[in-house]
Amino acid sequence: MDLSPSPEDSAIADAVRSFVEREVLPHEPVVLQRAAAGGPDDLTPEELRSLQDKARESGLWGVATPEEYGGAGLSKLTQTLIAVELGRTFLQFYFGGTAFDSLFLLNDSQKQKYLYPCLSGELRACFAMSEPGGGSDARGIRTTAERDGDHWVINGEKLWISHGNDADFAITFARTAAEGASGGITAFLVDRSMGWTSSPYPVMGSYKVAQLSFRDVRVPDANVIGQVGEGFQTVALASFHANRIVMTAGMAGAMERLLEMAVTWSENRVTFGEPLAQRENVRWMIADGEVACRATKLLCLHAASLYDAGTEFRHAANSAKLFGARAACQVADDVLQIHGAMGYAKELPVERFYRDLRVNRIYEGTDEMQRLAISRDLFKRHVKVGQLW
Ligand SMILES: Cc1cc2nc3c(=O)[nH]c(=O)nc-3n(C[C@H](O)[C@H](O)[C@H](O)COP(=O)(O)OP(=O)(O)OC[C@H]3O[C@@H](n4cnc5c(N)ncnc54)[C@H](O)[C@@H]3O)c2cc1C
Repeated sequence: MDLSPSPEDSAIADAVRSFVEREVLPHEPVVLQRAAAGGPDDLTPEELRSLQDKARESGLWGVATPEEYGGAGLSKLTQTLIAVELGRTFLQFYFGGTAFDSLFLLNDSQKQKYLYPCLSGELRACFAMSEPGGGSDARGIRTTAERDGDHWVINGEKLWISHGNDADFAITFARTAAEGASGGITAFLVDRSMGWTSSPYPVMGSYKVAQLSFRDVRVPDANVIGQVGEGFQTVALASFHANRIVMTAGMAGAMERLLEMAVTWSENRVTFGEPLAQRENVRWMIADGEVACRATKLLCLHAASLYDAGTEFRHAANSAKLFGARAACQVADDVLQIHGAMGYAKELPVERFYRDLRVNRIYEGTDEMQRLAISRDLFKRHVKVGQLW
């Protein structure tokens, strides 16, 4: 197994790194300053769009989108390398021309109305699964959809929905227990104009999440995604595991950046007549972080290569996510410690990374859900202990 990038992959990763350094990183101090003054704490939609347009001119567009939809058709391995580079900034920058994986499952007329406008940036979607009553137990959702002629009537509450306050439509999961063969959960495309409302829900990091309310929201039958009752198995699970590879690669990028900052800081900060870099405790924290960063990258590249080979990759993806999320939080904590009070100040990106990385242990499956899945694979003998291939 050769995990080294091809010359093409290296060229793409280099192009992304230089784009991030040249165009995205200069926004960081501006955003930190204006956030400290009470302004927007991330790229505004206009800033994001302008950066995406610039990236498109350099050929960086649709990096996670198949060629048949106008995307770059890149392998998961290449997407993983790209995600490492994007993770080096705390700003939530992503290339244009991408859409939720679930939207690629739509039928042709649904694709015209929802997928293509998302790829072109005309429409924004959100993924509405979690509820106030629970997120890990996704099969236990309480939002209901009842059939009424050729429509469905949706009632319920969704919570923690990323970008839910800006979305034009929601990929909404609701219980249709009496209908369909298995699972009893159906996925719907629900336009905001059909009547759901949203309000922001403040959280620790800079993520923008919202609470969504559905009160007798009428949705036409034509807006069911796939089969009635099959939403959990075919729509939700379709993207969960593959997402974990790329998001964990982003955490490796964050660790890289933080550790570089720690090296520079500890070389320059002198206490009791010596640079911090001479202190054993500081060097050990940096060494442990370096190993964690390398291990996270390798776990991601391994999972991505299994995915690209069309073989079972979920155990590998879950392992990467569990390890990477915990490692990234530890690295952020150590790097903040090395910076002392300046690590805690809002002037440097360290405290921002510290707050933003924490959510990786919660969303897209908590640490505990990864552990349950990993151990289940072992007890059911789906995977042998330590088996890589
Ligand atoms: C910033 C952010 C963005 C998000 N974006 C989205 C989004 O776009 N769409 C969406 O649908 N959801 C989203 N979520 C929700 C996220 O997926 C859930 O928060 C997550 O699934 C956990 O659910 P919960 O918060 O209800 O915790 P709970 O399920 O209530 O769990 C609480 C704790 O108990 C543990 N636990 C639960 N069950 C077990 C068990 N059986 N055994 C052992 N431990 C257990 C959990 O691991 C966790 O530590 C987002 C959350 C955040 C914070």
